[in-house]
Amino acid sequence: MASVALSPEILAKYEPVIGLEVHVQLLTATKAFCGCANRFGSGPNTNVCPVCLGLPGALPVLNAKAVEYATLASLALRCQVRERSIFARKNYFYPDLPKGYQISQYDKPLAEHGWIEVPAADGSKKRIGITRLHMEEDAGKSVHEGFSDSATHSYIDLNRCGTPLVEIVSEPDIRTPDEAFEYLTRLKEILLYAGVSDCNMEEGSLRCDANVSVRPKGAEKFGIKVEVKNVNSFRFIRAALEYEIERQVEVVESGGRVRQETRLWNANEGRTYSMRSKEHAHDYRYFPEPDLPPLILSPEFLEESMKRLPELPEARRARMIAEYDLSTQDAQTLTASREFADRFEAAAKTARNPRRVANVLLSEVGGRLKALGLEQEQSPVSMAGIVMAADLLDEGKISSKQMKQIFDLCFEKGEDFAPVYDREKPQQITDAAAIEALIDAAIAANPRQVEQYRAGKKTMAGFFVGQVMRASKGQANPALLNELVTKKLEE
Ligand code: ADP
Ligand code: ZN
Ligand code: MG
Repeated sequence: MASVALSPEILAKYEPVIGLEVHVQLLTATKAFCGCANRFGSGPNTNVCPVCLGLPGALPVLNAKAVEYATLASLALRCQVRERSIFARKNYFYPDLPKGYQISQYDKPLAEHGWIEVPAADGSKKRIGITRLHMEEDAGKSVHEGFSDSATHSYIDLNRCGTPLVEIVSEPDIRTPDEAFEYLTRLKEILLYAGVSDCNMEEGSLRCDANVSVRPKGAEKFGIKVEVKNVNSFRFIRAALEYEIERQVEVVESGGRVRQETRLWNANEGRTYSMRSKEHAHDYRYFPEPDLPPLILSPEFLEESMKRLPELPEARRARMIAEYDLSTQDAQTLTASREFADRFEAAAKTARNPRRVANVLLSEVGGRLKALGLEQEQSPVSMAGIVMAADLLDEGKISSKQMKQIFDLCFEKGEDFAPVYDREKPQQITDAAAIEALIDAAIAANPRQVEQYRAGKKTMAGFFVGQVMRASKGQANPALLNELVTKKLEE
């Protein structure tokens, strides 16, 4: 069943080496080399034409948008982009590949030598190298399930043929399943920010093959690697790697040799199965694609692309931590998607105190969403409502207790902040004499705390603010209350 985390004994003796190959579908309206719609979920074999079916005489025309997106992805991953890259034919037979070859790139890929930073186990940052990023087209899909005769027949859907992809190959720099998980998480985040793919794993927009080997700790030479395919969630990547590392260690420990092969992950059984012995580049008979000229990118185009690149997640987090005084965790939450971060920052700009907007959003609204198991999009409270609450709080027009009560009602009734606030019109005591009377009572009832305050423990003021707030049922004007408590205690 599902594999367990690697035992300390294994990790003391062996070091895993991991490299990932990630295929990402680009968000273009049409396919890579023809005008067919690049769309998931259409009726089978409806988005096809002579070009993507590979009918004789049909010629490919490169989709400029695909080049734009692939270039953006390359730059976002800090790759060096080639000014001249070459398309190549990768020849193989498979029922979902009617042309008998995939248009890909081989020895002159679009981009090379990039990297992604991931958090390492010890809290530091580690760079995982990106060997290359190349453009290629997707193949179709064999459908083995869902038909009454699926036990004996498979069906072919060619809609996916010719969908533009980039393949992103990492250096063998990854050392643990956790690092692999982090690498994929960061990679996905960067591609989403760059806006080049929806990275939807369920729909196959992002697919990952994992290469893994083990070597004795301290050894320089890499072990024989196995490629694990068919891993369709980040969680399973971790599980598949853990399983595979243990399997390889067992082989080595029992005096055997790991076989270089391709294995398939079976999620139901939580294990990998041998699929075929490793294929080699020469098996594919790569040669330059005769129907497409070299892809030439001008320095101006590259410069333009660089300018179009949005602020990327890591940089954005660092800036937002400084600007809004956030914890790393809060910054992570606020930048979970570019859209969310954009919405937050646009709203925060209109507020009296942007930091307070972050607080209200994360602790009041975020906390309630989390408790209810809801997503941000399901929140009854709009960003404008959050700004309104933060401003009222900042101006001292409501106490935090009153704000909490309003948010409770918002979530209870599924209403935004403004209507609930207008209806409830939280009462405020703004009469100084009335507040002073409550403070006097609190001071009389807590002589020890008064003594502590006067002995220099100024934070005791907060205690009295709390006492009076409670006595006033949260209705004392906070700004006035703060001011008067200090005045009274200093008397
Ligand atoms: P192949 O020629 O088999 O396609 P590549 O050298 O192109 O192998 O590497 C494919 C992927 O495997 C890359 O992500 C790379 O980092 C990774 N890789 C290469 N050698 C090893 C190894 N010994 N152990 C684990 N991963 C490896
Ligand atoms: Zn087509
Ligand atoms: Mg290779």
